[in-house]
Amino acid sequence: MRELFPESGQVTTPSARAAGSAGEAGALGAGGRPVSVAVAANVWRTFDYLWPEVLREPAPARASLEPQPRPPVEPQRGQRVRVPFGRGNRMTLGFITDTQPAPGTRELKAVAELLDTASQFDETLWKLGEWISQYYLTPLGIVLAAMVPSAVGRRRPQSEAAAFLTSRRADWPASLGARQKRLLDELHEAARQGIEPLPVEGLLRHSGAVRASLRGLADRGLIRLETRPIQLGTTDRHVEEDPFPLNAEQQAVMKAMEGKLSGGFSTTLLYGVTGSGKTEVYVRAIRQVVAAGKQAILLAPEIALATQTLTRLLKRLPRVAVLHSALGAAERAFYYQQIRDGQAAVVVGPRSAVFAPARRLGLIIVDEEHEPTYKQDNAPRYHARDVAVMRGALCGVPVMLGSATPSLESLRNVQLKRYEMLRLPRRVRGLPMPTLQVVHLRRELTPGRIELIGRTLTLKIAAALDRRQQVILLMNRRGYASYVFCPSCRWMLTCDHCTRAMVFHQATQLVMCHYCQHTALLPQRCPACGRKLLLFGMGIQRIESELLRKFPAARVARMDSDTMTSPRQFRKVLDGFAEGAIDVLLGTQMVAKGLDFPRVSLVGVVSADTSLAIPDFRASERTFQLVVQVAGRAGRSDLPGEVVVQTLHPEEPAIRFAAAQDYDSFAAWELPHRLETNLPPYSRMARFVVRHGDPLKAQAACETLAERIAPLLADERVVVIGPQPAIVRKIKNLFRFQLLLVCAKPFAIQQKLHPAFESLCRNLGAEVTADVDPVVLL
Ligand code: ADP
Ligand code: ZN
Repeated sequence: MRELFPESGQVTTPSARAAGSAGEAGALGAGGRPVSVAVAANVWRTFDYLWPEVLREPAPARASLEPQPRPPVEPQRGQRVRVPFGRGNRMTLGFITDTQPAPGTRELKAVAELLDTASQFDETLWKLGEWISQYYLTPLGIVLAAMVPSAVGRRRPQSEAAAFLTSRRADWPASLGARQKRLLDELHEAARQGIEPLPVEGLLRHSGAVRASLRGLADRGLIRLETRPIQLGTTDRHVEEDPFPLNAEQQAVMKAMEGKLSGGFSTTLLYGVTGSGKTEVYVRAIRQVVAAGKQAILLAPEIALATQTLTRLLKRLPRVAVLHSALGAAERAFYYQQIRDGQAAVVVGPRSAVFAPARRLGLIIVDEEHEPTYKQDNAPRYHARDVAVMRGALCGVPVMLGSATPSLESLRNVQLKRYEMLRLPRRVRGLPMPTLQVVHLRRELTPGRIELIGRTLTLKIAAALDRRQQVILLMNRRGYASYVFCPSCRWMLTCDHCTRAMVFHQATQLVMCHYCQHTALLPQRCPACGRKLLLFGMGIQRIESELLRKFPAARVARMDSDTMTSPRQFRKVLDGFAEGAIDVLLGTQMVAKGLDFPRVSLVGVVSADTSLAIPDFRASERTFQLVVQVAGRAGRSDLPGEVVVQTLHPEEPAIRFAAAQDYDSFAAWELPHRLETNLPPYSRMARFVVRHGDPLKAQAACETLAERIAPLLADERVVVIGPQPAIVRKIKNLFRFQLLLVCAKPFAIQQKLHPAFESLCRNLGAEVTADVDPVVLL
């Protein structure tokens, strides 16, 4: 049987021997005392199990001298266990929720394994877990499982398998499969960056390859596999001096923060234009908190973690643990422990870092708080920004949210005086904001040619390249959408009801208007000239080839989820761009985030319409954010910045306000619409998606769910939209129907539905997922 490992430094280690000595071979001795367990499975109630009799191991240092008394391990709320669960008795992760449940009459199964000898959750983290369970309508066991990395507490493996590249690129046979090629590329890139060998675990994860491919490469002599001792990083590094004093505006922000940083819960929204020096404010605030002996958490979007801005920031902070996705399980557990022990003073990471077990927490910062990636898209579907604010409230610590384009939810919270807004209205060092030019794509293209880069943008790219300056191009491709277009006469299919472009949906083979939801058959021929129509898929690869055709000498790098398979690949492109080895960086919204390159003088938005076309009430807001954020990459040092935005809807307010970099006016225009239509931030939403392989059954189950929900919410003013087919009607052969609940009062829906959720979903015969405060409505 497996050994039991507690968290280090807290309690002593019980061993397999200790468990064995309880008397039963191959199983823990059941001590007879019941405990309640929340299992990490889609069930709402807890289950009682018998607590095993396990003796604590004596402290290792003294163990050899004399025998120590070995008290039994007592159950604690929040301790992790493995229990046989369900009819098949599958070993399932669980958490002790109650150490003294009321005695029942049923015969209990025994806990099979103890994963900890003490709780993983202090009082506030436990409360946070309970809040997430209720607010996001997710079983507690699933929430708790998401809060602790699975490798925590497991004895750290002493060694790991690692791969060395032993061949030169020129010697790689052409017959290799795509995955094997990717493995070699990854090793090659790491070696170039001076990282060698690579742990096999991470290598396989990032390349999506299986062990057999790796072994195949070793058999062919292209790589060597070896077992070697694990090397862990350290959080203890030299801290760099401040490179410059804060400017007057940054000082004013720090002054306003002063009282808040010394303690107590508060939420501050730092609204600072791109390049206004927000990051610098974070550094100073964090250092102040750490100097007072406390810990700080800085959340950043996953992609930003790989940028040089962040690398620079890390050098300025003491004892940082960075929890990025490239960490192996053992490393993650190691840092988690360092945070808990207080050896790490600062935690930097993506959304899950909001659960870092900092016991002396003094500050939480959420950078780019408007980012939709803070919302987790599987259960628990929490929003890390909102969880950060809740954690701040529970722990009594200040929370700081930063953005150049604050979400309307946060702005609304400022208006309601829940948050305080501080502003950095100007760029640092008196640098001007970039100038934006909106060009009408229809007038920019040569008739008869399928092009996406219009005349103005082409000329400006050429000019920037001539001046040896760099260019960032944004193409926010949406994979499921393409326009219907006549290459001969440039006719474009628009909606009869709203004259907006219709979008072709692969899944349904229909065209749809994302504004009024009108759908139609795909026309066979162009109604204007009778020729064949084209699906105008504005994919990024098409732009790449257009660029290469127009600028054969330019060094172009593409950055999207197809090419960026690991943080290392991402780093490679960003380093290449920083060194000037790349002239044009073409990417999806990845390039809009936090990049700071002084030689970028031109930013081009190939089509601002791709995000306008998303069927979501936040389409305008997203478009505004994206254009402003990507424009903010231009002119960040002494070169003046220019931005060209291509669109078919130059009159669109989101684009007009973005062009003027005018957040206040955008908000003043958008908020009344939301109010009128009773949408967030003036209401709260909960979305239920019901899935089944048979569309009729999916619909019927969704109708039943709606009928069951209705009486529960009778007293609340809740608007129910649906049942209706979800916009993406079918995913992985399951048909999806949705129910949207809209309510003015926060938490009202959950209070009624949470206690009843299990019975609401019982015998529906279909899968149900709940998404509270959804950010994607597809
Ligand atoms: P933001 O996060 O608001 O986009 P950053 O914090 O990245 O802006 O700052 C933009 C640039 O300005 C960075 O290169 C940063 O080093 C520099 N910077 C920040 N504050 C100052 C200052 N007070 N004086 C001079 N340069 C500064
Ligand atoms: Zn329409």
